[in-house]
Amino acid sequence: MTAKILDGKSVAAQIKSELAQQVAALKKKGITPGLGTIMVGDDPGSQIYVAGKHRDCAEIGISSLRIDLPARATQDDIIAAVHEFNSAPECTGFIVQLPLPAGINQDQILAAILPEKDADGLHPANLGKLVLSVKGALNTPVPCTPRGVIELGRRGGFDWQGKNVCIVGRGITVGRSLSLLLTRADVNATVDICHSATKNLAEHTLRADAVVMAVGHKYLLQPAMIQPGAAVFDVGVSRGINPATGKAKIYGDIDPAVSEVAGYFTPNPGGVGPMTRAMLLQNIVETAHRQLSQNNSEMRKINADCDV
Ligand code: NAP
Repeated sequence: MTAKILDGKSVAAQIKSELAQQVAALKKKGITPGLGTIMVGDDPGSQIYVAGKHRDCAEIGISSLRIDLPARATQDDIIAAVHEFNSAPECTGFIVQLPLPAGINQDQILAAILPEKDADGLHPANLGKLVLSVKGALNTPVPCTPRGVIELGRRGGFDWQGKNVCIVGRGITVGRSLSLLLTRADVNATVDICHSATKNLAEHTLRADAVVMAVGHKYLLQPAMIQPGAAVFDVGVSRGINPATGKAKIYGDIDPAVSEVAGYFTPNPGGVGPMTRAMLLQNIVETAHRQLSQNNSEMRKINADCDV
């Protein structure tokens, strides 16, 4: 079997063109969505990610703002930057680029973000809403990578409904949040979540209709570890040197040979990564829509008060 390739670049391009239309419509109604980024230090990987996010915004008409702090920035400096974006009307939503330097209390920084401006969906209130919400619409920001995994599958023709999904990795940004999204009634998957203390990983992955790898361990998933036809989603990122070229290379958690057994396969890079970026834009646009409807309901209330 040769898997259907789930091309994240082309799906993300499609989503961006849909969002560009929504941004144009929002602008006509007086709202220009704006994404803010707070970056601490000069980690080259993070700098590339942040630059890419700003390029994406420019492509679809979202304005972008950035605060770059030196690696020596203190907890208070970062909290001050968060407060600046919390109170900036032109910033509809923002992210703090993770990971933060050692010694910074990341949870405290994330908790200082206004939940309605939390473009990464990682504020405890938004994660809490995700825990509380099984049925019905979710009207809060949702973590981008898990959302991107589900959307990439859907748009590529993989139906999650009733499927057994094995997630490998229980990190907050990917594994744990993805398990909550997959088990909501609008997706209806059954989830098995594995981590470094899981005994016999292959026993779990072999039972699954879909495997999502979110570890950061080069080629951890091998062809003999999946059932033929399973869908595999590669989130993990590790960096190494390509022995053929001597140049730096990004490796995923899934051995490329798995594509010969799988039914659906996400390349890495070029699969989940571009979807994460597209879902960040989607979160910003949705935040702007919510702001517009809140403004409208406030106007209706003012008008009603004037009538009285
Ligand atoms: P994380 O918080 O460090 O979580 C990694 C998880 O992997 C942990 O739960 C860990 O288990 C588990 N693990 C480690 N070794 C394992 C093994 N041998 N077998 C099974 N599980 C193992 O990382 P994260 O933030 O969730 O991110 C996961 C990966 O996705 C990273 O490589 C990250 O760079 C990548 N990522 C990619 C994107 C994208 O857009 N492509 C976005 C976000 C993250 P314990 O909990 O027991 O330690």
